[in-house]
Amino acid sequence: LFIVIEGLDGSGKTTQIEMLRDRFQGGGAACHLTAEPTDLPTGRLIRSILQHEITANPKTVAALFAADRIEHIHHPEQGMLAQLAEGYHVIASRYYFSSLAYQSEFADPGWIALLNMEAKRTLPADVTIFLDLEPDLSMERIAARGEEKELFETREKLTHVRESFHLAFEHFGEGENIHIVDASRDPVTIAEEIWGIVEGVLET
Ligand code: C5P
Repeated sequence: LFIVIEGLDGSGKTTQIEMLRDRFQGGGAACHLTAEPTDLPTGRLIRSILQHEITANPKTVAALFAADRIEHIHHPEQGMLAQLAEGYHVIASRYYFSSLAYQSEFADPGWIALLNMEAKRTLPADVTIFLDLEPDLSMERIAARGEEKELFETREKLTHVRESFHLAFEHFGEGENIHIVDASRDPVTIAEEIWGIVEGVLET
């Protein structure tokens, strides 16, 4: 299976991905965990821009994310198609809905969707799980992690990103298997719900 976990910062993506992997491994199935931006040259370029080490137009960033996604799919060893062909379940932290949510602050969502047509055609997810969280809770969790972020700006941004995720699922979610999961609950309860969803997909 190819499973995508989406969500705001602090929504618990990493925790849930690890719990899901453990669940698969308990049943004797191997998983490949992966994330965007990737560790490939395209992903490293994106990170340097996000960390303000180099500057680029936000539309360039949107195009780079789409390019990094193509590498993420097709890279001969680390690529998701290669991992799936080896028989692994692939669990990705973020995929094209993140681009629609984050890059749409500065670029037209229709254009971003076009840039991501190749990914959607080549490797749509078997299931996309959105860990949905109120921006205030997301803020609390980011603060608890001790990361430095501009609080005022971040709340506004998180609100925009969350709304953009919901819009993206509405407008670009055709043919996708999207599940919105309430991420405000305790991790074990969330993991149970996610496992139920994944079992449903395994059976189809
Ligand atoms: O997944 P992770 O929490 O590591 O993402 C870190 C940051 O990367 C996000 O908070 C967001 O600012 C940025 N990002 C982005 N566009 C994407 C994916 C991530 O701007 N498509």
